[in-house]
Amino acid sequence: MNATLSNTVQKLCVIGDPVTHSKSPLLHNTMCRVLGLDYLYLCQTVKPGGLEDFLAGAKALDYAGFNATMPFKELLLPYLDGLDPLAKKLGAVNTVCIMDGKLYGHNTDCPGYIAALRRRGFDPAGKRAALLGAGGAAKAVALGLSETGAEVFVSNRTPAKAQALAALAPGLIRAVAPDSGAWREALASADLLVNATPLGMAGQGQFDSFDFLELLPQGCLVSDLIYHPAPTRLLQEAAARGLAVMDGFPLLIHQAILALERFTGQTIDPDTVLPALEAALKE
Ligand code: NAP
Repeated sequence: MNATLSNTVQKLCVIGDPVTHSKSPLLHNTMCRVLGLDYLYLCQTVKPGGLEDFLAGAKALDYAGFNATMPFKELLLPYLDGLDPLAKKLGAVNTVCIMDGKLYGHNTDCPGYIAALRRRGFDPAGKRAALLGAGGAAKAVALGLSETGAEVFVSNRTPAKAQALAALAPGLIRAVAPDSGAWREALASADLLVNATPLGMAGQGQFDSFDFLELLPQGCLVSDLIYHPAPTRLLQEAAARGLAVMDGFPLLIHQAILALERFTGQTIDPDTVLPALEAALKE
């Protein structure tokens, strides 16, 4: 944490409801300390009905920007003065920069996931991915993967949502019915399996069975977006079958690095901040 605050410190925060569990203040304040950036990052509960008041206050108090979590990733869109093309395609922002009283929206979940994969030594270009879930995180993952040229097969409890997601990149993202032959084929040829559902998260439901992991080829990377717990039971079962695994922390970290780049306009070499971030998250 910042031990001393200058009189010119720039203000950032994360908004959401609920939000007090957020790791964003820890991640951003750690990076600012390591990089010597004069910013302070706070945690701000905002009720959905309080968004306009928050935006007016953030502008009046000269905030440099903020991150947004549930339920604001979509609710913010009508208030933005500018939107990056990826965020526009996704219809969701997680990072908003405030410049001269204007709001500029970005989505760093999408490139953050790809950065996390590459850091893990997995280049998604031209690969095949099987994706469980079609919510906000799944959309960011699917779009990010498809932008690299990867093929993505999406299976979701509510098939209509998988079909809507597939429309983001026709030909590269395909909806397949859960438990169908097409889903089993997608698993059998997958280079990457991603869980973007809450199944396995603390306090949420669990997969009924992990038999589907038997269908994955050896060499497939199993990625769970959940980081509480890390590893999840899915990743434990995958590792027990000799499969490579990646938990939800790399996405959390890389979307934060990219968000701080947007806030500060500085390029951040992940090597300069990763050891401190990993240590902070372990505490
Ligand atoms: P979301 O928008 O609510 O989407 C949840 C998805 O999971 C939906 O497709 C939903 O299916 C499906 N689902 C929910 N409960 C299910 C169940 N019991 N069985 C089967 N499918 C179920 O949530 P989200 O924001 O995308 O988040 C998804 C997961 O990613 C969460 O665990 C979250 O913690 C994690 N996440 C991690 C990070 C990170 O930084 N590591 C970032 C974002 C999210 P329906 O369409 O049928 O409802």
